[in-house]
Amino acid sequence: MYDVLIIGSGPSGLTAAIYTSRANLKPLILGGTKWGGQLMLTTDVENYPGFPEGIQGPELMEKMRKQAERFGTVIKDEQVISVDFSKQPFSVTTENTTYQGKSVIVATGADTLWLNVPGEEKFIGKGVSSCAPCDAFFYREKNVVIVGGGDSALEEALVLTKFASKVTIVHRRGEFRASKIMQERVLNHKKIEVLWNTVVEKIMGNEKVEKVKLKTQGKVYEKQIDGIFVAIGHVPNSQIFSGILEKDMKGYLQPSPAKNSAGLSSFQSATKIPGVFIAGDVHDHIYRQAITAAAYGCMAALDTEKWLDGQTT
Ligand code: NAP
Repeated sequence: MYDVLIIGSGPSGLTAAIYTSRANLKPLILGGTKWGGQLMLTTDVENYPGFPEGIQGPELMEKMRKQAERFGTVIKDEQVISVDFSKQPFSVTTENTTYQGKSVIVATGADTLWLNVPGEEKFIGKGVSSCAPCDAFFYREKNVVIVGGGDSALEEALVLTKFASKVTIVHRRGEFRASKIMQERVLNHKKIEVLWNTVVEKIMGNEKVEKVKLKTQGKVYEKQIDGIFVAIGHVPNSQIFSGILEKDMKGYLQPSPAKNSAGLSSFQSATKIPGVFIAGDVHDHIYRQAITAAAYGCMAALDTEKWLDGQTT
């Protein structure tokens, strides 16, 4: 029996573990078979405070993991396949066994939707990115492509114009899905070109991305580029909570802020099930940064600690 079970081992889960272990709650992280979350797929991280020279994504996650373990967090790299939050203690089942906890922090994150074209996976972090605010800086005076036609793609295209010399939006249809105001900004921007009714067939290069193969109305051609940003949406890792926790239309978990034991402030990370809290990208589809995920992990840990205190007093 654990005081706190944390599902997920990205910045939110590990931050929740650092806080709850320092509060002597001896958390167990069920971190998944691929632990560490989206930062394991990035290279340079230059916007996480405390690393003036920048840090590699996987190295940052290693440091967070060590910091959590230093205070007694137990981490098992096991994939959670089902949960039972219908009674106390809560049960969380992995492919190996079932764990029980008095409280649970859900920090399962979200995955980028990728194009799934040849070359994409090979060049992630070497010219293929899913985060313009994180990586635009590396494309000063470069020629970049961004794929997608929603608000994310258009917003990221505008971010990229601050650095790149040329930004080409590749969109599979003849009109954007994004809000009108974003469309106006993009279509009036002199650094941005739009390739309508065009899809990416292949991403090519040697050490890093050099070219992209595009297809439009049956015609296939290659375009020289320095980088390609994929912004075709994200998918929250919330499948195992279907019918258990509230979700929005896109599957992001919904918090149900609740009063704490003193009845004064509220538990911002609470769900409709007392004792189950949520943190990070599994519910945040707006900011989606490592630092905000970590902050949500901190909030969930503090809420959990207060909630557990309230159960014993
Ligand atoms: P989205 O609205 O679902 O748009 C995804 C875009 O990617 C669509 O244009 C879609 O094309 C395209 N796409 C999907 N799969 C593709 C594929 N396999 N190949 C090529 N293109 C593909 O996702 P989002 O832009 O991430 O936005 C998610 C939500 O967050 C939206 O509600 C959005 O309004 C909101 N958001 C708001 C802001 C803001 O207000 N500042 C910023 C970012 C996001 P089709 O159009 O053809 O389907």
